Amino acid sequence: MPAAIADNANLTADRPTFVTHLECGMTGQHLPADTLHNLSPEGWPILVRYDLEALGRAVDRDELAARPADLWRYRELLPVRKTENIVSLGEIATPLVPLGRIAAEDGLASLIVKDEGRLPTGSFKARGLCLAVCMGKELGVTRMAMPTNGNAGAALAAYCSRAGIESYVFCPDDTPEVNMREIALQGAKLFKVNGLINDCGKIVGDGKETMGWFDTSTLKEPYRIEGKKTMGLELADQMGWTLPDVIFYPTGGGTGLIGMWKAFAELETLGWIGAKKPRMVAVQASGCAPIVKAYEDGVEHAPVWENAHTYAAGIRVPAAVGDFLILRAVRESGGFAIAVDDDTIEAARLEVSAKEGLLLCPEGAATYAAYKQALADGRVHKDETAVLYNCATGLKYPLPAAGETLDRTKPIDYAALG
Ligand SMILES: *Cc1c(COP(=O)(O)O)cnc(C)c1O
Repeated sequence: MPAAIADNANLTADRPTFVTHLECGMTGQHLPADTLHNLSPEGWPILVRYDLEALGRAVDRDELAARPADLWRYRELLPVRKTENIVSLGEIATPLVPLGRIAAEDGLASLIVKDEGRLPTGSFKARGLCLAVCMGKELGVTRMAMPTNGNAGAALAAYCSRAGIESYVFCPDDTPEVNMREIALQGAKLFKVNGLINDCGKIVGDGKETMGWFDTSTLKEPYRIEGKKTMGLELADQMGWTLPDVIFYPTGGGTGLIGMWKAFAELETLGWIGAKKPRMVAVQASGCAPIVKAYEDGVEHAPVWENAHTYAAGIRVPAAVGDFLILRAVRESGGFAIAVDDDTIEAARLEVSAKEGLLLCPEGAATYAAYKQALADGRVHKDETAVLYNCATGLKYPLPAAGETLDRTKPIDYAALG
């Protein structure tokens, strides 16, 4: 093992675990921990529950500061029982990057990007899949499969290869080329499907019996939410155990939004944060906005979005099995759901790159576009602290053509370069 990882006490220290049971996200039915589950018997996503009272007695939030700043700092709030089952590629705490020039220009109190593009495999999918694969290893899984728009597949492939688990990945055939190649390079069997992510999901579900793989689809196993939950734990920790007024989250399957809301509830129960929690804003693209429509219609479930299209591939999710959990978090928090079109997303991406030197992915740029829209329509105020989630490195996506040619064999008119 590389020295840096061997030296990281988070990865080597045995710590007590506090999972008591699992729970159906819809009915609350209890299910046993430490056995494999996909959806609950009624067909809903499953949530992991902890003995928070015992956890609170065993560890104090201020002790955490002495540990390395990464995902495993929060080990007691995670489900992995045995230290030997930790599979890590170095899940660092991602930085909070203030958009200072934009804030000064527009008179904003505080606008911050949590830049998740710094994580292994270049996206926040690493958080969820890291935990899903650790738990797969712990529970004896040898083969995992999933549908993906790119980043989840890359993270699954990477963590599975590291854990010695086989992976099968199915993606729409128009997934960005770089995503498909990294998935294959990191050891997965990759299939390009002439359909959308929900079509790929059906293939995974239908092939389960024959292929003996564990279905790792978004929210169809309990542990990706726990991994994504660390976005919320880490944010509270980084902000000195306080939280911003409002969070803008690019919402596809909603794992991160659901996970963060769960994190805040657990932190409040522990007494590590107060009662003030952020308004959660689900950001979608106007070409695929099932959650926005359901939010506006006042319903708990979102019908499948027909003809889904947006260049922000990570949020092109026409149907989410955890739609009700996303909508509950948004409503309980006093937040809202908002859609932005592709042109506005691209303009937002160009603006943040040029003014702040921060290259967002399209989905991350969508959160800035949505923030501006919400500022204009009065749903967010200039004096509030807002955190935007940039979910992946901008380098994974096609970039606009650029650069002028320069002929070095002719005299260069330097004054004309300005
Ligand atoms: C997966 C993904 C999303 C959506 O995340 P969820 O938590 O599943 O809603 C957004 N952006 C990118 C880049 C993604 O890979």
